[in-house]
Amino acid sequence: MFDYLIVGAGFAGSVLAERLATRSNKKVLVVDKRNHIAGNAYDHYNEEGILVHKYGPHIFHTNSKDVFEYLSDFTDWRPYEHRVLASVDGQLVPMPINLDTINKLYGLKLNSFEVEEFFASVAEQVPVVRTSEDVVVSKVGRELYEKFFRNYTRKQWGMDPSELDKSVTSRVPTRTNRDDRYFTDTYQAMPLHGYTRMFERLLDHPNIKVMLNTDYHDIIDFIPFKEMIFTGPVDEFFDFQYGKLPYRSLEFKHETLNTENYLAAPVVNYPNDNLYTRITEFKALTGQQHPKTAIVYEYPKAEGDPYYPVPRLENAELYNKYKKLADETPNVHFVGRLATYKYYNMDQVVAQALTLYKKLTATPTEEASKLRKPAIVGSASIMDKLVSRDPAKP
Ligand code: FAD
Ligand code: UDP
Repeated sequence: MFDYLIVGAGFAGSVLAERLATRSNKKVLVVDKRNHIAGNAYDHYNEEGILVHKYGPHIFHTNSKDVFEYLSDFTDWRPYEHRVLASVDGQLVPMPINLDTINKLYGLKLNSFEVEEFFASVAEQVPVVRTSEDVVVSKVGRELYEKFFRNYTRKQWGMDPSELDKSVTSRVPTRTNRDDRYFTDTYQAMPLHGYTRMFERLLDHPNIKVMLNTDYHDIIDFIPFKEMIFTGPVDEFFDFQYGKLPYRSLEFKHETLNTENYLAAPVVNYPNDNLYTRITEFKALTGQQHPKTAIVYEYPKAEGDPYYPVPRLENAELYNKYKKLADETPNVHFVGRLATYKYYNMDQVVAQALTLYKKLTATPTEEASKLRKPAIVGSASIMDKLVSRDPAKP
């Protein structure tokens, strides 16, 4: 008998499993249909022994002391401030756009004050900033928008920035100083031994069982539990009854190169050329020393694993219909990037999971919730798949 069935071993599911098991002594079963824990943050050593992120570059950054301190119980950290160059007009220039970007791009020697005046002179008047196009043209004008944002966004999302909510391009600031860091958060670091190791420690508790290679549909009628925490796509949970929520997918093309270093920066963005959006060199993120290097190309796709909710009004409206259903579903709690259809970073998902944990333990749901009776009591083969000590092993 499990107190909780948790669907998904990513940040949302694993943080809740850890809290419920260690703080509330709950018996938890975590299932994931993939053959590994850690969700999209999963990393592993490739065939050459280089630590790579299977689902694209994951850089940890947060302003939340609580989130950082919480995760610090499960990992040591390597201080790391992320930097990105964009390939524009045949040059590699800092992204986000800053003073050096403008000077290099146009062969100028402006100072911060002058570049601010420059932005003001090219910025377009936008009465109400609503879309991802509005955000950029109202700050840096149309030319820079077209060089850095328009085509990247079209490639990444399969639609024009004018069709996307302002929150998308608002993720990337514009600067008048020389700060070339991608993020300015208080805490910026990579888990010293990688994300998967951190997840192994999150899930390493006798009250937590992990079942991999398992879609929850395949076990739900066989394993008794009281409540469910669902971190997969919310529309799928409800059998797409209002239609599909759009998610953007990616294809990751991993390569190992017979050279020690490859890129001029940890990530290089290609707004205008190529079918991929960016290339990442993992050793720059992890600090690993190795005579070879591993890179990944990201090719955006409409179909495939759901990686990005697509922030735009009509999708938010459709999500709200699913949210209403979710709110009305007793003893099932929806959390995480796919289940709440939010373009969340890792730290935001951790914060959301910690908040849900507080909510779950603040209300006396146990008496109210009825025991969910299994159709058949767990068969030996299903129970055999349960592991508690070594969740990373497929
Ligand atoms: P997920 O990690 O998606 O976990 C959900 C899990 O549920 C999955 O493992 C899935 O297999 C499982 N599941 C779904 N349906 C079922 C089912 N029916 N049965 C069983 N299991 C199921 N964030 C940052 O902070 N910094 C970054 O640099 C960053 N880079 C990113 C780069 C890319 C390319 C992507 C796609 C995301 C990036 N993110 C980044 C976001 C980060 O990946 C997410 O915020 C985080 O991983 C979400 O965690 P989650 O638990 O909500 O979802
Ligand atoms: N973006 C862009 N050009 C860039 C970098 C980002 O147009 O060089 C836009 C694009 O729409 C992208 C969004 O800003 O999807 C957010 O960028 P971020 O780097 O945060 O994307 P993520 O890492 O989540 O894929």
